Amino acid sequence: GAVGAPETEDRLRDRLAKSRIAFSASLGSFFSSDSGAEERWQELEDALISTDVGPGVSAEIVMRVRDRGPTTGSQARSVLAEELVSSLLQVDRSLRIEGSPAVLVVVGVNGTGKTTSIAKIARGFVLEGRTVVLGAADTFRAAADAQLRAWGDRVGVPVVSGAEGADPASVAHDAFTTARAENADVLIVDTAGRLHSQKNLMDELGKVVRVLQREASGVSEVLLVLDGTTGQNGIAQARAFTDAVGVTGIVLTKLDGTSRGGFVIAVEQELGIPVKFIGVGEGMDDLIPFVPDDFVEALLTP
Ligand code: GDP
Ligand code: MG
Repeated sequence: GAVGAPETEDRLRDRLAKSRIAFSASLGSFFSSDSGAEERWQELEDALISTDVGPGVSAEIVMRVRDRGPTTGSQARSVLAEELVSSLLQVDRSLRIEGSPAVLVVVGVNGTGKTTSIAKIARGFVLEGRTVVLGAADTFRAAADAQLRAWGDRVGVPVVSGAEGADPASVAHDAFTTARAENADVLIVDTAGRLHSQKNLMDELGKVVRVLQREASGVSEVLLVLDGTTGQNGIAQARAFTDAVGVTGIVLTKLDGTSRGGFVIAVEQELGIPVKFIGVGEGMDDLIPFVPDDFVEALLTP
């Protein structure tokens, strides 16, 4: 089912304003020119690259738009919209909720928005009438636990945590036991985003996922949270996680704060993993299921 508050197209357009303005500023002359001049195609490619679509994909998109031979600005706009949408994965983007409880593990570098995204996802479930338990397996910092608890209180869901420095896998195990005992529909587990080494972090995350896989009849989703403002760095970061744990979906945050909304296309092209949600603000309702048509429409509407 849909998670997140009902979202009007106006609100999406409003939140994506920085990217929208960047797109229309750089595409303005492309759309308004009816000539088939060579520079026009180069301009389109540059515009796409400047919004972080990624150089390879940008060139491909331009080729496909060009091949279709739009002759007016408005044709060019709708052909471009179609090609942007078809550059995104054609897959089911809904969250898999299987098992009792269904288990979601959320991973990603510190500061990307894991904890707040968990709160927003939990809130979506609560609005749908599902019961949720949160597991605070980011035991590396005491503040992480306190932050998840504060969100748990606001959303109205219980949080299971361990002592600072406790084994994250054992906290995940305890959270699962609690969620099962309370007949919760969903368990969402928060994890650490930084340890003294990347290998250490990835080993630890692997252990958390394995413990939950053993306890539950499987983990429904491993969601990787990526900061939408990080560009190519974010892709490299993501690969470290996808190599270590089987990531099933991406949450791309902070798209309200960047003019580089084209990054969502680079992410899916390079990682081959669907973006399931986008973060468009700091509030409780500011996580939106990612719908390619709506997103592209919002970006290209001046
Ligand atoms: P974590 O370390 O990965 O758990 O990250 P947090 O959930 O603590 O978030 C880090 C900061 O990013 C907080 O100040 C959040 O409010 C902010 N944040 C998260 N998602 C978004 C978003 O979609 N938009 C904006 N503007 N800020 C966000
Ligand atoms: Mg956190």
